[in-house]
Amino acid sequence: MREMILLKQGEIVLKGMNRRAFEQKLEDNIKKALVGLPAYRMRSCQSTVYIEPEDGTDCSLYIDRLKKVFGIVNIVRAGAAPKDMEALLDFAPTYLENTLMQAKTFKVETKRADKKFPYNSPQISAMMGGKLLESFHHLRVDVDNPDVVVRVEIREKESFVHAGRIQGAGGMPVGTNGKALLLLSGGIDSPVAGHMTARRGVEIEAIHFFSYPYTSEAAKEKVLSLAKILTEYTGPMKVHLIPFTKQQLQIRDNCPEEHFTLIMRRIMMKIATEVAKRNHCHALVTGESIGQVASQTMWALGVTDPAADIPVFRPVIGMDKEEIITRARRIGTFETSVLPYEDCCTVFTPKHPTTRPKLFNILHSEEKLDVETMVREAVEGMDTVILGK
Ligand code: ATP
Ligand code: MG
Repeated sequence: MREMILLKQGEIVLKGMNRRAFEQKLEDNIKKALVGLPAYRMRSCQSTVYIEPEDGTDCSLYIDRLKKVFGIVNIVRAGAAPKDMEALLDFAPTYLENTLMQAKTFKVETKRADKKFPYNSPQISAMMGGKLLESFHHLRVDVDNPDVVVRVEIREKESFVHAGRIQGAGGMPVGTNGKALLLLSGGIDSPVAGHMTARRGVEIEAIHFFSYPYTSEAAKEKVLSLAKILTEYTGPMKVHLIPFTKQQLQIRDNCPEEHFTLIMRRIMMKIATEVAKRNHCHALVTGESIGQVASQTMWALGVTDPAADIPVFRPVIGMDKEEIITRARRIGTFETSVLPYEDCCTVFTPKHPTTRPKLFNILHSEEKLDVETMVREAVEGMDTVILGK
């Protein structure tokens, strides 16, 4: 008995002319996601990618990883049979036995891609329904609300039977929509923001600022662990590590205390913009959400935003903390994010930060700094690692 995995593509099919390029990207990403697993065969046909493990390896092994590949709407585990009605009717009860033994009601749906097949879809459904009722006496047909939908697909080369689909990661294949630079802290929000952006097909690189000795080696390791989790969705990712202590001390020593955080965030944006440009990233991505902390009020965002002269995307801007946490749990970053850590943003935080800053005042406070040199030195001190290879 042959079993394979059918991956149904999502929005890709809407992309008209670019469709082949999109499919190619999806296949490349699937290959990367399955690196290290036993051999399999892969082919694409009619908006479906077929994965067939060789040597009878269990499909679950592959499915666990495929669930994280963007561009797949659903994943189906299907039994393959010859394109012959008798063979199909023989095969289905055995293949579906486990599923149907646990169900009380079912219905059959048929998709006939090959119009030359001697029976039409309603005939195939009726014959299959009859066969299943004959094989499992406890079953009843319920077309409105069945426990199980048995699907028969008559394709070009063979036919398939399956019952049940697994939800895929959705979105579009990473790499079909340019590249962005994610400002990745060790917190809960920024990994979620990165995941949401990658889900729209955007390749991600990450940048992290650290402040020895105020932040520890462990805090940096934690951020790398978070980035590593993201690579399960994005594929290999560059992480740029920026030593930021000197710049923070310069801000502390030259600027009013209540403006410290805002100026620091503006300098972070400027450094990130420079790193983005050097690495062909078209936008920055942050985990900011309106009103979450003093540096994320409307006024504060209005001051930090103009520091970057490329677009800044904030995918979680309108989400409540609870919603962000739910997503963080689902994508698997939450447990790591809540490990205790220090972040450079919490070093030297003012006792009374300005929550309604005016850009004019902040620019005035910034005048004493040699911003250009601060940015240049940060970029010169940068260390880049590639994760998830
Ligand atoms: P998060 O949970 O993502 O850490 P947060 O609610 O703690 O966010 P802030 O610490 O104000 O908020 O940071 C806001 C955003 O700035 C983060 O989501 C992240 O994109 C970026 N950021 C903060 N600290 C760093 C850092 N050390 N390196 C890179 N980016 C950072
Ligand atoms: Mg943070």
